[in-house]
Amino acid sequence: MNRKDFLKSLALLPLAGFAMNLNKLSALTDPFESTVKMPVLFVGHGSPMNAIETNEFSLEWQKLGKSLPKPTAILCVSAHWETKGTYVTAMEKPQTIHDFGGFPQALFDVQYPAPGSPELADEAKKTVSKTTVGLDEKWGLDHGAWSVIRVMYPEADIPVIQMSLDYYQNPQYHYDLAKQLASLRKKGVLMIGSGNMVHNLRAVDWGKPNQGFDWAQEANEKFKKLILANDHQQLINYKTLGREVELSIPTPEHYLPLLYALALRFENEQVAFFNDKSVMGSLSMTSVKIG
Ligand code: ZN
Repeated sequence: MNRKDFLKSLALLPLAGFAMNLNKLSALTDPFESTVKMPVLFVGHGSPMNAIETNEFSLEWQKLGKSLPKPTAILCVSAHWETKGTYVTAMEKPQTIHDFGGFPQALFDVQYPAPGSPELADEAKKTVSKTTVGLDEKWGLDHGAWSVIRVMYPEADIPVIQMSLDYYQNPQYHYDLAKQLASLRKKGVLMIGSGNMVHNLRAVDWGKPNQGFDWAQEANEKFKKLILANDHQQLINYKTLGREVELSIPTPEHYLPLLYALALRFENEQVAFFNDKSVMGSLSMTSVKIG
């Protein structure tokens, strides 16, 4: 470094310090100030093994983690947390919940130590007026959340909270509730709905690892068409969509996270599919990126 450059860098130093202090200050006053608008994801999570296997699905999750703008925090609505009333996890350190059975020990050994965000939990509570959102201190991160987020963000350096599904409510309620969360997208929060559009565990056929039954494929295509047409009302009223959809959604919990993601779409935003594939006969991994 010559003398001129040295002087220049000296002159820059106090400024750099000042900028840093400003950042720190704004982090203290408002951790969720405006940033670029974050995309929204609906992720088909499928088998918990996707969390530790390198396969076509997890590779796509990995790519997303690298290509999306870095979120300030993540809010995940997972199929695997159903409650009476709506809750958000509000603890500082959410535990990794291994809510499944019959899988290899390696999957039970997984820990995902991402911090929680009591601040985001408060913010979500304040943002929603449709119901009183409860602050939960007991749950943590279930595999609907961590199996995907761990692959996207292996450093576990982004705070994650979950929002539960109120199983007493109808699909319209979930859609309307989700709409109220849209402002968080402009505060750097990545919203992820984690489920499966087609999800019938009773009909699973282990002999068809890479295929779907005709009805599963038909339902998947129907969902995609309606999503691209932004015909959310038909997707909310999914019970009227025919037998293939009835077979695909025997219980609503894996489908509802899709409605959360769709409700968060702003006008004119692009919608794209990834991992668009049926597996084990009666599951589809089809996932949606909005924005
Ligand atoms: Zn699941």
